[in-house]
Amino acid sequence: MSKVLIIGAGGVGSVTTHKCAGLSDIFTDIVLASRTLSKCDAIAHEVLKRTGKKITTARLDVDNVQDTIAFIEKMRPDVVVNLALPYQDLPLMDACLATGVDYLDTANYEPPNEAKFEYKWQWAYRQKFEDKGIMALLGSGFDPGVTNVFCAWAQKHHFDEIHTLDIIDCNAGDHGQHFATNFNPEINIREITQRGRYWEHGEWVETDPLAWSMDYEFPEGIGSKKCYLMYHEELESLVMHLKGLKRARFWMTFSQQYLTHLKVLENVGMTGIEPVNYKGQEIVPLQFLKEVLPEPASLGPLTQGRTCIGCLLKGIKDGKSKTLYVYNICSHEAAFKEVGSQAISYTTGVPAMIGAMLMIQKKWHKKGVWHMEQFDPDPFMDALNIHGLPWKAVEL
Ligand code: NDP
Repeated sequence: MSKVLIIGAGGVGSVTTHKCAGLSDIFTDIVLASRTLSKCDAIAHEVLKRTGKKITTARLDVDNVQDTIAFIEKMRPDVVVNLALPYQDLPLMDACLATGVDYLDTANYEPPNEAKFEYKWQWAYRQKFEDKGIMALLGSGFDPGVTNVFCAWAQKHHFDEIHTLDIIDCNAGDHGQHFATNFNPEINIREITQRGRYWEHGEWVETDPLAWSMDYEFPEGIGSKKCYLMYHEELESLVMHLKGLKRARFWMTFSQQYLTHLKVLENVGMTGIEPVNYKGQEIVPLQFLKEVLPEPASLGPLTQGRTCIGCLLKGIKDGKSKTLYVYNICSHEAAFKEVGSQAISYTTGVPAMIGAMLMIQKKWHKKGVWHMEQFDPDPFMDALNIHGLPWKAVEL
């Protein structure tokens, strides 16, 4: 018997709710709460149709910590799964602390007026979570999330030391739109337009945004794609937890069409996060842009093709050098057929469900605030194969 409270009725929230509903022996009660009740109800309707499971829905603005505390007190969930936006991480962690409930998210906290992608605000909760006897699992999506688990698994089973890590995120799908982002546009564009950064010999090295690229040959017929170096939040914890690491980088593929649109939007000031005065009203250009772009959840029926996200690791085992590539390929069409969402939401929503499941089963459970690579990777890797994200590891 367990109860999960899922916050956020967007693309990712929908997938996690479907996947939890498909495991009703583990998630006996499911509550989906978000700012817009109609979005929760639409997901509940789909979940009932697909899985036969009835879930509870509610309107809740989690920026109001007192309301959230009252809601959690009323519902008494075993775990709160935060699939709202990174701005909501701290208010939800505060509500979990006040009510003594475990917490999970898929993205690090972001202050609304700064693009930082840093964990320091959430690390500051470590002692408080430990003292309260509860757990926070940070970044249980794909990247961060599965990529951290791939690294932990490689470290446990394949390497004495990992010397270089390249996380390579390829979306070889196409939604046919002139310009759209596959997850929340505001967060996505903030992430991509920031300066690039990678870690080498104990130091962070900065690059201009998307200034470095490489061509990478992806497996299983996906072929060669241009990948751009950017900063991604999982690097911050991984560089602390991989033994012998000398360099860590993150790469993502973008089409030329996407980059051209982004450049124009940037050049005309539409990606800015500082408020501007428009006819007496303060508006944030990026937030306005989000309103006119397609919702990620609406891309499900339109997207075709596959994603391929993996870790390329080089290091030594028994004195010999070794290169390992651990990856998952996910089909947009298959994800849509199963849960009505495209693969970006799917590859994030499934690991969120798995993280919550392992916490409820106490297979992953420690007091305090933790990253994915700090737990035994084996049960998570097994669950990925069972629940829709099978992976492969190939020695190169
Ligand atoms: P969406 O924008 O589709 O959904 C976000 C949902 O959160 C919306 O339903 C929104 O409500 C709700 N929400 C926002 N603010 C509040 C609030 N104050 N109180 C209650 N609900 C709120 O985003 P996605 O589903 O694409 O992404 C969800 C999360 O997943 C993001 O944090 C994103 O960064 C993360 N992510 C992580 C990935 C990973 O691999 N680790 C990859 C992709 C995404 P409303 O509809 O009313 O606006």
